[in-house]
Amino acid sequence: MEGERIEGDFLVIGSGLAGLNFALRVADAGKVLVITKKERSETNTNYAQAGIAAAIGEDDSPSIHFQDTVRAGCGISNEEAVRIMVEEGPSLVMRLVELGVEFTKKKLPDGREVWDLWKEGGHSRRRILHAGDFTGQHIERVLIERAKEKENIKVFEDFIAVELIVEDGRCLGAWVFDEKRRKIIPFIARVVFLATGGGAQVYLHSTNPSIATGDGISIAWRAGALIANLEFVQFHPTSVYSREKRERNFLISEAVRGEGAVLLNLSGERFMEKYDERKELAPRDVVARAIDKELKERGEEYVLLDLSPVGEKKIKEKFPNIYRHLLENYGIDITRNPIPVVPAAHYLCGGVKTDVNGRTSIRGLYAAGEVACTGVHGANRLASNSLLEALVFSDRAARDALEFDEPVPLGLRLRFREGKESIERIVLVHMRERIKKTMCDLVGIVRNDYRLSRALRILRLLNEEISEMFSRVPVSRDTIELRSLSDLAYLITLCASMRKESRGLHYNTDHPEPRKEWERETVIG
Ligand SMILES: Cc1cc2nc3c(=O)[nH]c(=O)nc-3n(C[C@H](O)[C@H](O)[C@H](O)COP(=O)(O)OP(=O)(O)OC[C@H]3O[C@@H](n4cnc5c(N)ncnc54)[C@H](O)[C@@H]3O)c2cc1C
Repeated sequence: MEGERIEGDFLVIGSGLAGLNFALRVADAGKVLVITKKERSETNTNYAQAGIAAAIGEDDSPSIHFQDTVRAGCGISNEEAVRIMVEEGPSLVMRLVELGVEFTKKKLPDGREVWDLWKEGGHSRRRILHAGDFTGQHIERVLIERAKEKENIKVFEDFIAVELIVEDGRCLGAWVFDEKRRKIIPFIARVVFLATGGGAQVYLHSTNPSIATGDGISIAWRAGALIANLEFVQFHPTSVYSREKRERNFLISEAVRGEGAVLLNLSGERFMEKYDERKELAPRDVVARAIDKELKERGEEYVLLDLSPVGEKKIKEKFPNIYRHLLENYGIDITRNPIPVVPAAHYLCGGVKTDVNGRTSIRGLYAAGEVACTGVHGANRLASNSLLEALVFSDRAARDALEFDEPVPLGLRLRFREGKESIERIVLVHMRERIKKTMCDLVGIVRNDYRLSRALRILRLLNEEISEMFSRVPVSRDTIELRSLSDLAYLITLCASMRKESRGLHYNTDHPEPRKEWERETVIG
């Protein structure tokens, strides 16, 4: 295909916190093209409910935040990256405030105003800055407004990256599907920044919006980038259970448990104390596994999250969004009735491997945010560290990218072959459901060798079939996402099969203990 092409200095794929922060940071140095799969605000960032962690409390310090993060990472966090994140985080969070983000404050008895810091599971101090209980939405809105003010930033909505353009080990842009015109266009830039977020939609129950299909990991892997640690999938313990099929499970933030809400089985018994002395405030993986065990043992479909210990006044004051959402969409008044909840896939700790400056293994290709694996989270992520990671490493990637001045070679010969055969949508829907069900049944919260090897066989076959089909049929959102989900499912399962131990979020009943020789990342090339 020859003809139309769009050129800039920086190509940013994704308009969440990582993408927009990067775009704002480089905007004075050149033309920035931001492509985004749907409308620009439809991101995981937009749904972040609790907040962003930063060691700014009087009793806190970056070194305490470091210890908490590394403890959660179960021995395999990249300590250099963690140190950078906790040290650079506080000032970058304050830069968000300068950009217009209004984090919630509270008044002390002596009249002073201070940040109203929340505490979440695994954090030993109150350090979560939040904007009511719609932090992500607020941050996203502010960044979009700031980006609009920059003439150099052009945002393309409904433009979906299909493939990276890589020549001689150097990334030069991406093939992009313009969904409205149903056309594939090459976007060429000196620097490509991947900020496509996560891919928890690969599971049947997911807290992520529909955009989270792992596209960035899939396209980077196919272009030859290193991928790491994908076996560490975080399941959020408390997403709303509903019999109706919904695109995503609504999440009940950890902060609710931080304020005193308790988990009950359907007999009304509090059960977390059987599993961990920290009870409801144990880290997410512990709570998710406890719920999984309780459900499997009792043959029940959900447990209950009881907010009555929080009290009506505090619920309405602190969690107005959750209160309203549950009332309007599920008919549950959470000041009076418990919420039925189940664990749902929430966050990928692994992704495209980067160094602490956001560089991937492909020259000219940077990545940050949930798509990337800086190694900060190791085998498990602390709540509210992901927005911080996206902020800190998109910033560092931007600083590094500003120095990257290798020009795009002249006379690039670009060609994209698109298939012409038609395909019935039902076939695509069926394959998508097969992937999600396989992941849910065989590669879920608790794993074993047999289920993993079965999943690997199924997914390998599906993967081959989907790649082959992709080359025969016209490109569409459905086919792009199907291929991404298939690649991601395969990569998660491959990483999980390689790690013959249990550590953090990866729990294999055939290898229930951590092993010294596995105190390292799982890297796939
Ligand atoms: C319900 C929920 C609550 C959460 N709460 C918190 C919290 O309180 N604190 C916290 O720290 N973290 C939280 N997280 C996690 C956090 O929101 C994400 O990890 C973070 O926002 C990721 O930011 P990002 O910029 O990397 O990606 P995202 O914000 O997900 O943005 C990804 C962007 O990439 C675009 N994109 C994807 N594929 C393509 C493609 N092929 N072509 C073009 N564009 C593409 C998308 O359209 C989107 O614009 C939560 C997540 C969810 C789902």
